[in-house]
Amino acid sequence: MSLETLIEKPPVVESTSKKFDPDGFNAYVMNTYGRFPLAIERGEGCRLWDTEGRAYLDFVAGIATCTLGHAHPALIETVTQQIKKVHHVSNFYYIPEQGELAKWLVEHSCADKVFFCNSGAEANEAAIKLVRKYAHTKLEFLEQPVILTAKASFHGRTLATVTATGQPKYQKDFQPLMPGFQYVPYNDIRAVENAIADIDEGNRRVAAIMLEPLQGEGGVRPGELEYFLRLRQICDENQILLVFDEVQVGMGRSGKLWGYENLGVEPDIFTSAKGLAGGIPIGAMMCKEFCAVFEPGNHASTFGGNPFACAAALTVLQTIERENILQNVQARGEQLRTKLRAIAAKYPHLFVDVRGWGLIDGMEINSDIALTSIQLVEAAMKAGLLLAPAGPKVLRFVPPLIVSAEEIDEAAQILEKAISTVIAS
Ligand SMILES: *Cc1c(COP(=O)(O)O)cnc(C)c1O
Repeated sequence: MSLETLIEKPPVVESTSKKFDPDGFNAYVMNTYGRFPLAIERGEGCRLWDTEGRAYLDFVAGIATCTLGHAHPALIETVTQQIKKVHHVSNFYYIPEQGELAKWLVEHSCADKVFFCNSGAEANEAAIKLVRKYAHTKLEFLEQPVILTAKASFHGRTLATVTATGQPKYQKDFQPLMPGFQYVPYNDIRAVENAIADIDEGNRRVAAIMLEPLQGEGGVRPGELEYFLRLRQICDENQILLVFDEVQVGMGRSGKLWGYENLGVEPDIFTSAKGLAGGIPIGAMMCKEFCAVFEPGNHASTFGGNPFACAAALTVLQTIERENILQNVQARGEQLRTKLRAIAAKYPHLFVDVRGWGLIDGMEINSDIALTSIQLVEAAMKAGLLLAPAGPKVLRFVPPLIVSAEEIDEAAQILEKAISTVIAS
């Protein structure tokens, strides 16, 4: 099977199942997801139980989202207290929890200002709007700002963020796309230099470069240090804003609080969502003072930064700090990659690479063989381990950040068992 045919096939196992949707109610849900044959009933820590009572080790964590795992006592306590107090008010008023969360984020990052929204795509939309306003108001003659993004990137599903996403499979049938985006290969500095030179026509030029510090969805590909150091220089020399999408890799997942800390550079603008409130919906767009050009009325969100979501995020952040969770992420990440490398060495015809930072790790399957990430995800699921594909050929490991050494060992054992069943079939 060629890579192209695999890419065209979405990660669908089935769209209906009598067993996992006995009443057929899923027929009323719009048909946008291929689903694995599994319905979850409850969770605790790094474990989930399905509706038939079977337990699974959860190395998906709602796609890098359930930072503190499931049913964490601190999160339960916070959301219970907050919903009793007040859960939502309009941004017509000052929201103390929002201020406190913004202060924490500013004190623990390179940012000076925070805008709150509800998802990764929305945070990136806010970043794109900020870039455009900055270009129109601060950069002379720049009427047609262009944002460079990377091929194989993922930035969301709204019209602007799906345009920013450098993967045709997500854009198919949604044309016309948003103007003002152009793509370059990831980790390729020459391509950036060429694009900046090519897109230079007086009132049309590159205003920002938007990248993931580590490409998640596109195959768990870490950014290269040299590339990002040079990129920062190029941006400084050319008045180009450097924007990082930290939606997946940020919030401690890389073993540092922010992905950019692994690359020795600071962005001008960056976004967070997924793990920020451990599974309660929230997004944030953060930036440095010099480019904080939004004024009242420029941008807004009804739910954005409400007391419920902000209190949850504060608890997640304070728990990460209090319980030294970043240290756990680093140690468990090392342990996991060591285990995965040992497995890859045992099956050199199946696997070509193991890579990642902290607890965002990938295992790449040999492109010369027909085996897909989805086949392995299914086999692991049957054996009691939940994994996520990152494209057709990469297995993604993104467990809760509280995962224990025993659970890492257990996951590796289950994966080996799953691999042996796939080989035998
Ligand atoms: C998941 C993801 C998004 C989109 O987030 P949503 O909350 O689904 O809108 C954007 N960027 C990256 C890097 C992501 O991993």
